[in-house]
Amino acid sequence: MNEQSTAGAQEELRAQAAGAENLDPREISSRRFREATAHVSGLKRGLIDFLNSPKRTIEVCFPVQMDDNSVRTFQGYRVLHSRVLGPGKGGIRYHPTVTRESMAALAELMTWKCALADVPFGGAKGGVVCDTKSLSEAELRRVTRRFITELGDDIGPHTDIPAPDLYTNQQTMAWIYDTYDVLHPGRNNRAVVTGKPLALGGSLGREDATGRGCLYVAERFIARGVIPELSSLDGARVVIQGFGEVGAAAAQLFQMAGAHILAVSDSQGAIVDDSGLDLGTALEHKVVHETVVGTPGTRTITNEDLLELECDILIPAALGGQIHGGNAERISARLIVEAANSPVTPAADRILHAKGIQVLPDILASAGGVTVSFFEWVQNAANERWELDEIHRQLSRRLHDASDTVLERRERLRAEVASSTDDAAPETITDWRMAALIAAIERLARVSLQRGIWP
Ligand code: NAD
Repeated sequence: MNEQSTAGAQEELRAQAAGAENLDPREISSRRFREATAHVSGLKRGLIDFLNSPKRTIEVCFPVQMDDNSVRTFQGYRVLHSRVLGPGKGGIRYHPTVTRESMAALAELMTWKCALADVPFGGAKGGVVCDTKSLSEAELRRVTRRFITELGDDIGPHTDIPAPDLYTNQQTMAWIYDTYDVLHPGRNNRAVVTGKPLALGGSLGREDATGRGCLYVAERFIARGVIPELSSLDGARVVIQGFGEVGAAAAQLFQMAGAHILAVSDSQGAIVDDSGLDLGTALEHKVVHETVVGTPGTRTITNEDLLELECDILIPAALGGQIHGGNAERISARLIVEAANSPVTPAADRILHAKGIQVLPDILASAGGVTVSFFEWVQNAANERWELDEIHRQLSRRLHDASDTVLERRERLRAEVASSTDDAAPETITDWRMAALIAAIERLARVSLQRGIWP
């Protein structure tokens, strides 16, 4: 265990003892990274610092004319964390909580996600600080076009490739493609962005890819017999926070696999039906009323209460930091599948681990989206379209391989910790997150060393 990781873990224990959890996303990702690198051998200090630092951070500020002729200034970010494995890849989100630090933390998470799924991209993330619910479609289009123009050649098919994320969708990606294409005429620009509509070179299977990835990863772990008291998804009771692109897809796919979806939610609240929700009715209600709350035949609870429902599998598919030191003790799921990015905090990790609740981490469980984005990028470069069966076959192969890597790395991690003679080292949580992160860092470190330090 190196000096920095010891200090980081002690700092966390002190903060927990004081009842205060540091929820700064950059601090959380750095602390997890430090803990993981203590188990990666052969890395020089300088290389550890390099792998933990964003390669490039762009901050832009731009005016947009609103529908009422007023002008508003928007703030946007694009962070490229790593280019070791290939061009940057990561979502663009439109949300009031977008900050430079949160984008940096999420970009780093994308680096580990790509490394683990073995797709040849580095991590990136970007966003605009805004509340899409208060913007018209025309205003959103102008925000998108101006933001992409500001980013200029810092995005591109071989430099940094955006994708959908919170409150951005296929339409947003179509505007991104169109803006970039207008600025770079006379060449095939389709691979500049993924998650596009099919007619613009989008891939079959992209919309439900992240939810499907959650399913494939959960099925793999369950089939390996590593989730106590859960032998299959058939009859499993599932609760999902969020009912957007990821949450709604996960709900339908887990239901098709035999699970009962007890509850789902959105930003307005959560709905429950103890005998299993009728998802078709919930989806129809959401289209008409812009929320699932009030779906006939369901009772309404809060998002906080939803997280604490007794169930077999809890799938957080909304925002980060939802399961934290303040509520983890009350979580009563057997398994948490992280569909969202960073929904469980480090303090919660320790509490869940002590309670025997297993967590399939975001860098593995929510890697389906970036994996099918990679397939879209490959199809765009070749001007091809793959069949849906082919997409599903390749997605399941990659996520099963990534799951097996994590399963195998945790076995070794446990053996390493058991044989450690370092009494001063604080206890390492040998959970799936730590194993996944170590495996991803080892892959990136290997490639960095093979490429060599320039010059
Ligand atoms: P989305 O915008 O389509 O849906 C977000 C959902 O979260 C909506 O149902 C919204 O109502 C709900 N929500 C918002 N605030 C909430 C709150 N306070 N409490 C409960 N629910 C709330 O976004 P998405 O694409 O489904 O992404 C969801 C999460 O998954 C994000 O964390 C995102 O970063 C992550 N993710 C998305 C993808 C992808 O391919 N879209 C890939 C990997 C990870």
